[in-house]
Amino acid sequence: MKVILIIGDGISDRPTRVLNGKTPLQVAETPSIDAIARRGICGIVDPISPGIPPGSDTALLALLGYNPLQTYTGRGAFEALGGGLEVRESDVSFRGNFATVNDELTVVDRRAGRIMRGGEALAEALNGVKLEGFPEVNVIVKHTVEHRLALVLRGLNLSRMVSDSDPHQENLPIQTVHPLDASSEASRTACIVNAVSKRFHEILTNHSINAARRENGLLPANAVLLRGAGTLPQVKPIIEKYGVQALVVAAGPMYRGICRSVGFDVIDVPGATGTVGTDTVAKAKAAVENLPGYDYVLIHVKGGDNASHDGDAEQKVRMVEKIDALVKHILDNVDVESVFIAFTADHTTSLELRKHVGDPVPLAIMGPGVRADSVEKYSEIDCAQGGLGRIRGVDLTPILMDLAGNSKKFGA
Ligand code: ZN
Ligand code: ZN
Repeated sequence: MKVILIIGDGISDRPTRVLNGKTPLQVAETPSIDAIARRGICGIVDPISPGIPPGSDTALLALLGYNPLQTYTGRGAFEALGGGLEVRESDVSFRGNFATVNDELTVVDRRAGRIMRGGEALAEALNGVKLEGFPEVNVIVKHTVEHRLALVLRGLNLSRMVSDSDPHQENLPIQTVHPLDASSEASRTACIVNAVSKRFHEILTNHSINAARRENGLLPANAVLLRGAGTLPQVKPIIEKYGVQALVVAAGPMYRGICRSVGFDVIDVPGATGTVGTDTVAKAKAAVENLPGYDYVLIHVKGGDNASHDGDAEQKVRMVEKIDALVKHILDNVDVESVFIAFTADHTTSLELRKHVGDPVPLAIMGPGVRADSVEKYSEIDCAQGGLGRIRGVDLTPILMDLAGNSKKFGA
């Protein structure tokens, strides 16, 4: 038996004034998602713990069965893995932005004008640079999307316990990185990151792409702001836990990286962008086409969360309806007698507050032998009446694996 899990990032919400006190899931026309609720069992899920607003990274780890309170080791390694870099156990990785700084190293634009042509060439100029005082440290850089890059530091005695060089707002200087614990590894790593920042600034300032950008009236991408130092989580891959071959269909580098870090294969889908413009049906097609080779397929769709952060209710409703088209393609094209289909969100993102909040998210699971309940519609309010009751995010994958016959008995 196989499992398809569909996660709509941040689609869960609170009652919203501009939607006449309803949630986007209540307002959207979602006949296919509702069909999962009607034919299956429903519930609500605390992604981490009641009242804790989850990050997308910790929430996804939990939904895949890995307790983030025990396994989360920062975001950097996920970005690097998801960007296509190889990451080793002892590496420390960062997310980075190309940015514009003035002569005093004050940040003028955190994204160097945001849309970055030439990002790849600039990253290539930084890749492999040697650091004064730390010749043994390998500096690995890769451009990911827009103004973003991933940095991997490879060497002995590195620690992820260091602060960000990114001031997280403009008109502040690039921050001097400092250690976050008393270890010698953390202070050594902080010195290394500061040396990296300095060297990157020197190289970028003199790069021909930036000379051309200045000539064309564009902001030079003359610095890199680093944040989210992280190492690979030390976890048992999903194939060892459940004996399943797993695949993820996701566009955002971080989601792809998280899944890779726990043993999922990753595919590229043309048209899948990780934004509200994404082609959701192309994702569904890719999942269906690849289903024969896999036991557990995750489809992650980002756009609903973006719409919430923008406070755009109409866009969020439209995004939910686009995800319904994805679900329709799945229901129309897989054998529902041998595939379990689960639908949920990774966290609640409030349109009104434009941020993640700690409310539970709705869940629906259909498949052969599932104890269908009386819930008829997929929403935050309806699913609270379902047969699964209220569960933790970390319980979802074990439930799905047990339904599909991949779990081991506890006890004799
Ligand atoms: Zn999310
Ligand atoms: Zn978000």
